[in-house]
Amino acid sequence: FMEAQILRGHHAYSGGPDGEKPSLGLSPNLAKMGIELFRLKTGTPPRIKRDSIDFSKMTPQTGTDAKLAFSYDTDTFVPLEEQELCYLIYTQPETHRLINEHLSDSALFSGLVTGVGPRYCPSIEDKIVRFADKSRHQLFLEPESRETDSMYLQGFSTSMPEDIQEQMVHSLPGLEQAVILKYAYAIEYDALVPTQFLPSLELKKWPGLFGAGQIIGTSGYEEAAGLGLMAGINAVRKIKNLAPFILRRDKAYIGVMIDDLVTKGTLEPYRLLSSRAEYRLLLRHDNADLRLREMGYELGLINEERYGRFLKKNEDLRTIFQIINNTTIRNHKAINEYLVNLGSQALNGGINAAELLRRPEIDLRSLLQFVSIPPEIDLSDTLIEQLEVMIKYEGYIQKQDKQAQKIIKQESIMIPPTLDYAMLDGLAIEARQKLAKIQPLTIGQASRISGVNPSDIAMLVLYLKRNSINGSTSI
Ligand SMILES: Cc1cc2nc3c(=O)[nH]c(=O)nc-3n(C[C@H](O)[C@H](O)[C@H](O)COP(=O)(O)OP(=O)(O)OC[C@H]3O[C@@H](n4cnc5c(N)ncnc54)[C@H](O)[C@@H]3O)c2cc1C
Repeated sequence: FMEAQILRGHHAYSGGPDGEKPSLGLSPNLAKMGIELFRLKTGTPPRIKRDSIDFSKMTPQTGTDAKLAFSYDTDTFVPLEEQELCYLIYTQPETHRLINEHLSDSALFSGLVTGVGPRYCPSIEDKIVRFADKSRHQLFLEPESRETDSMYLQGFSTSMPEDIQEQMVHSLPGLEQAVILKYAYAIEYDALVPTQFLPSLELKKWPGLFGAGQIIGTSGYEEAAGLGLMAGINAVRKIKNLAPFILRRDKAYIGVMIDDLVTKGTLEPYRLLSSRAEYRLLLRHDNADLRLREMGYELGLINEERYGRFLKKNEDLRTIFQIINNTTIRNHKAINEYLVNLGSQALNGGINAAELLRRPEIDLRSLLQFVSIPPEIDLSDTLIEQLEVMIKYEGYIQKQDKQAQKIIKQESIMIPPTLDYAMLDGLAIEARQKLAKIQPLTIGQASRISGVNPSDIAMLVLYLKRNSINGSTSI
């Protein structure tokens, strides 16, 4: 948190989040090196002491028994009944009255805050002003840890003074007697304008200097982890004289995030929402290993044992996929009873198993009783889910894949970083300026810069062809 300021009510003081010290002096020095900075803002809600809460006035929210994890290697999951509960409550008319009455006391509205906050995580006073027609807003109480008694009041981020926060919290159902462990606050900090970076996350102006995480304009744990991984990989590859490792937009959300940041930039703390991806049917959680594990192995990030498990799963997947597509299920009593029980139409003659699976009411696990599968295949839940998605949505996935392939062609036309856009006739002035600033590495990246139109791209492609400098190297 470079040059960070904590803002609450009418007070601003130099400090980092959670009582940490701010990083002072680094960003002014970066600015002296000619690096462009901008100011961002984020905030956090109050933390409430667990045993001061009356949970009987709240709606419990259970977790999930779905076996979801960040890693494909996770094989133990906390059973649903052992998972901690969250609780749902709503803001009350009194909460809204208090906030409206004290708006001028909020750092956000008093003019103290100058940085731009994330539009997707607004403070409670922001929500009440922006959505004045809404009579209530959802809030969640989430345990921060099993080891502490601190509950996070999700959705109640604010920069009101402490005494107003007390009143606001006490206006909520179940929190009438609540003890606040930590007050909410807004925090402002410096970040580097991300369009100054190459897709490898190396600064264009300062080769050898890589950036990642919050200081390049993002907000979020996963965003920071993804960028840190890529900057680390590329810094090592640079030292080893290897080409940068760049993930395409149709291969990974990390690719979407980096391309957005370095091509379009951001005016607010960037959060990686799934809606930012145009190939959402390709970027699924069930196929992340199929998309990326091979690359991870080549980079030396996946050991032989994990890679072996991936190869086995991949082989099983292909085997069953083929079996299902090549199996015809004949019309007989057992299958028709099964279908009718699921509210599905009985068979008249034979039907392909994949076609039958595409009926919305049919699930693969139960259908497999009518398909002969080799016993050595491990029919894990993840394998079943992946197959189900692949077969049920095959048509849609293929369509999106075709669209992606068209764009990939553009990604393979490389633009030399030294190209002098001032020399190119026929480019619109805005396009010329933006291209010179962003220095896109490919025609695909150039086409995503706002202000660069298809006619500019056509001119650029023509120029590269005429001058035979379109090295068709794919990334
Ligand atoms: C109040 C608040 C609430 C948030 N809540 C969430 C949330 O619920 N979910 C979410 O996804 N994200 C949340 N975020 C955002 C998230 O915390 C950050 O985006 C993320 O932690 C950024 O990671 P980073 O590694 O880039 O930076 P940091 O996590 O800030 O790490 C930088 C590290 O560098 C160290 N450092 C600084 N200067 C030096 C130096 N000179 N030498 C050595 N070390 C140094 C710092 O001590 C720090 O450990 C929140 C942020 C704030 C401020």
